[in-house]
Amino acid sequence: QESVKLRNLRKEFDDVVAVNNIDLEVSAGEFVVLLGPSGCGKTTTLRMIAGLETPTSGTIVIGGQDVTTVPPQDRNLSMVFQSYALYPHLTIRENLEYPLRKMALSVDERSRKVNSVAEMLGIREHLDKKPDQLSGGQQQRVAIGRTIVREPRVFLMDEPLSNLDAKLRVETRAELQELQQDLGVTTVYVTHDQEEAMSIADRLVIMNEGRIEQTGTPKEIYEKPANTFVSGFVGEPAINLIDISKGWSRRLGGDVPSQAETIGIRPENLYVEGNVDSDVRESVDLSEPVSLTLDLIEPLGDTYELTLTDESDTLITVLSRAGRTLTEGTDVEVVADMSKVH
Ligand code: ADP
Ligand code: MG
Repeated sequence: QESVKLRNLRKEFDDVVAVNNIDLEVSAGEFVVLLGPSGCGKTTTLRMIAGLETPTSGTIVIGGQDVTTVPPQDRNLSMVFQSYALYPHLTIRENLEYPLRKMALSVDERSRKVNSVAEMLGIREHLDKKPDQLSGGQQQRVAIGRTIVREPRVFLMDEPLSNLDAKLRVETRAELQELQQDLGVTTVYVTHDQEEAMSIADRLVIMNEGRIEQTGTPKEIYEKPANTFVSGFVGEPAINLIDISKGWSRRLGGDVPSQAETIGIRPENLYVEGNVDSDVRESVDLSEPVSLTLDLIEPLGDTYELTLTDESDTLITVLSRAGRTLTEGTDVEVVADMSKVH
């Protein structure tokens, strides 16, 4: 269990600045997720921590030791990639043993470590099979097992679940989170999937164009986004970003500072008048109503996603439990939770 500190870390590839002087501290045992769009520098950051990429400038400190110039094999880190490559001709047991081959271990110790990891990942009964006899999810578990078996100081994971189908991805990420908590190993995990990041992280690091836009717990990032990029990148459906010059948004504005150009309101913090539950009405400070045209009603299980427009065709999304009582093409009054206007 070791901390990871990145200080003013930079990586240039020719004229591309992949990572633009980032500072980050990951505490011992923490599960930190780097989240951002494709090309924002997540993989490059991870590869620099692993030692697979040499920084242009800056330092990397792991467990108090400056490892910036230490070769990857001497850092005692483990990296899981999106495309897990198991050795097809080896059994699962042999695949799991592979990372231990260079360690001075007795046959007994080796087999004890492999059995314990296999137990932890629920793949014990598959130890004598070959990879192609296992499902994709089981194979990915073996790949994860291979990184655990060495008991590394830090786990580095680059989109480890993105090759799995949706159901398996959700299951495996819950298992991964549990495993990380049990082992208490400091983890830096990369994804571009905001839902995955929100559900798995102790702390999120939102990246954009090689920079860190904001770090915080999933709750902090969701409730107090630092800027429009962050607010638009987390939350599904996306936050409504409204130009403050539109007359009606000023009325919803609440405490928004007068120099603000854009306000953000999440779809679940807007309500259709006449359909506000009494508990909401009692506990929430609601804005003045604004008249909007209801263009589209889409059922999403127990809620509805409503798409509305104002006179100047600004699109507004509202998540509402009502929906069946509303009619597309009609005008409705919408109110906002004033405490949730950013
Ligand atoms: P992410 O993992 O967030 O998608 P990357 O770290 O892979 O982003 O890439 C960041 C930027 O650096 C991109 O513009 C990418 O094209 C560039 N890049 C990454 N690796 C290389 C490389 N080996 N050579 C040249 N450019 C690279
Ligand atoms: Mg990447």
